[in-house]
Amino acid sequence: MEARARILVLSEDSGDQAQPTIQKLLKEALKLVVEGADLNPKRIRLDPLPENESARKAVRANQWKERPPTRETILLLGRIAAQLMQSTGFVVFHFDTDRVWTERHESENRQKFEEIIREGVRRILRGEAAQPIDPRPRPTLTAEQIEAALERLIILSPCYSIESWLYQATKELLEYCRGRHERDEHVRLIESWSANRALLDDVLKPKDDVLPCVADHHNEELAKTFPAEDVWFAERSFFESVERLRSCSALVKALGYE
Ligand SMILES: [Zn+2]
Repeated sequence: MEARARILVLSEDSGDQAQPTIQKLLKEALKLVVEGADLNPKRIRLDPLPENESARKAVRANQWKERPPTRETILLLGRIAAQLMQSTGFVVFHFDTDRVWTERHESENRQKFEEIIREGVRRILRGEAAQPIDPRPRPTLTAEQIEAALERLIILSPCYSIESWLYQATKELLEYCRGRHERDEHVRLIESWSANRALLDDVLKPKDDVLPCVADHHNEELAKTFPAEDVWFAERSFFESVERLRSCSALVKALGYE
């Protein structure tokens, strides 16, 4: 069975839970993009960067936001460009918006992603930048091919952070909170998030300031019961990311049945 999509999944979160968490959320998103999508891992491959690859450091330690780009970021840009040059290659890049939904347009992270990552990859695809990974000459791409490749670089950018999505698994979240303490204020808050799925996107620092009792200790478990469809209907940052995936026609085609 041939892979229809090879998706390089990058997450700024570190730790053992980061990849399974983001991959699970991504799969839920893909199921909303194409209903009944066949996510057989042989057809739709989701892969992290190998543990030993230096480019991985640039994503994890938030190095990619630094100017001028570090050596690791330059390697990362080359890696992303190489992925996008494959006809079945996609890159999904998760970073937190670090802003609540109503202030998302002021997100420095989103601006830096466009300026440093997307623009950096565009320069490589145009042949304007050195490529330390593979110095061999590459076939010249037309402007149209370059933009088509860049469409396959898609961001997952939750407001405020990845926990803003994960905490939507309110039933399980409540159990974790109650396991730590009896705090009526937390119970009321979690119940309000369950009743209105739009609220969490406007909560500032949910992990560090709002529910330090749960923090990010159970991210992988929470991802397993993420109520994707309900959250999508709320039309906040998860919806926005799903719609970004949907606007990539090559991805929709890869997910669809023949
Ligand atoms: Zn609590």
